[in-house]
Amino acid sequence: MKTTVLPEILAPAGSLEKLKVAVLYGASAVFAGGQKFGLRTAADNFTLDELREGVIFAHQRQAKVYVVLNSFLHDKDLVELPDFVRFLEEISADAVIVSDLGVVRTVRSISTLPIHVSTQASTLNVEAAKFWKSMGASRIVLGREVSIADAGKIKREAGIEIELFIHGSMCMSYSGHCVISNFTQGRDSNRGGCAQSCRVEYSLEDLNTKEKKSSYFMSSKDLQGLRLLKDFIDAGIDSLKIEGRMKSHLYAGTMSKVYSEALRYFEEHGDFLSEDLIRWEKELSKVSHRAYTEANLSEPAGADSIFNERENFSGGEWKMVGTVINANPNSGTVIEVRNAFNQGEELEILPFRGEAIVVVASEIMDLNRKTLARTKPTTIVRLPFIHGIGPSQLVRQKTV
Ligand code: SF4
Repeated sequence: MKTTVLPEILAPAGSLEKLKVAVLYGASAVFAGGQKFGLRTAADNFTLDELREGVIFAHQRQAKVYVVLNSFLHDKDLVELPDFVRFLEEISADAVIVSDLGVVRTVRSISTLPIHVSTQASTLNVEAAKFWKSMGASRIVLGREVSIADAGKIKREAGIEIELFIHGSMCMSYSGHCVISNFTQGRDSNRGGCAQSCRVEYSLEDLNTKEKKSSYFMSSKDLQGLRLLKDFIDAGIDSLKIEGRMKSHLYAGTMSKVYSEALRYFEEHGDFLSEDLIRWEKELSKVSHRAYTEANLSEPAGADSIFNERENFSGGEWKMVGTVINANPNSGTVIEVRNAFNQGEELEILPFRGEAIVVVASEIMDLNRKTLARTKPTTIVRLPFIHGIGPSQLVRQKTV
């Protein structure tokens, strides 16, 4: 009897704290960046000590850590790379994510770290995948232009692990090969400086009719492939990637939780029920997002994948207001506050597994048990004891 091998859920870790959130909420792997060589210079990024701690934390929970080295490097940038690669090998990082052939050769010449070819390399076909395999790569993160069916074919014919995006922001250009930021802001998007120039409104003029129109015509909707999860599994995709190292803790936690719960459900039942899909979609819609699209996963993306309804769209009306530090009948529920909330307001606590727990902040106290009417960010407060919750769980609140 054929056993179905389920893919891993690969979540973004923009910081050590987000790495922990993603792993605790069920991600089986995370991707993170050091201070250099990655494509998200504006993310918090990890210090060496944080990377070491992150790998230990993840490995203790059977999760993997992949480190991005996916910037395109000039010769002068390559000089510092070997030391960093040796460090990653020493801390037992599980793989490096690479786009530049010079980086591939450097990594291969001094380490045995598995190499994952970044989506930035725009691998879209079997021959390209075979080439990367011959260069020593063990996995390809395919371009977002590839369908699930074609990804399955590339895996079968090239005989290499395949990672495919299932969720997150999209680039309107080919796998991020875009220089709008370079020309408009002097920021190199292929070396970590994307200024999201495609997201702003542009004015268009028809030179024949002189008719003018404002439009977000270069801004894509966000990818969301939950309903195609069975297709990913049937195609044998090894890793389902969630984009978003710059996104919030609530995003990292919710995405990891929803997609890992859906996979566990599939493992038990062999299929999905539509009421479960609706429930998971509702969870995904609570996190800040643009309108969702399945982009190229089934059919080539069309005009309806452009996010032109920006003014009238409010996606994700929930914010994270805190993290549970502890909960027991003696101390009550101790919360580290991130965003202020008031006494009497309704909150939701997101357990690592199962439905969100709705609570009312009927009484708020500080650590000296003085009653508060309103919390302040970066403080620690007590709520009455809430049964069934535990440390590190996220607390969220509807914003409108
Ligand atoms: S500006 Fe937009 S299209 Fe260009 S790299 Fe950045 S996100 Fe991608």
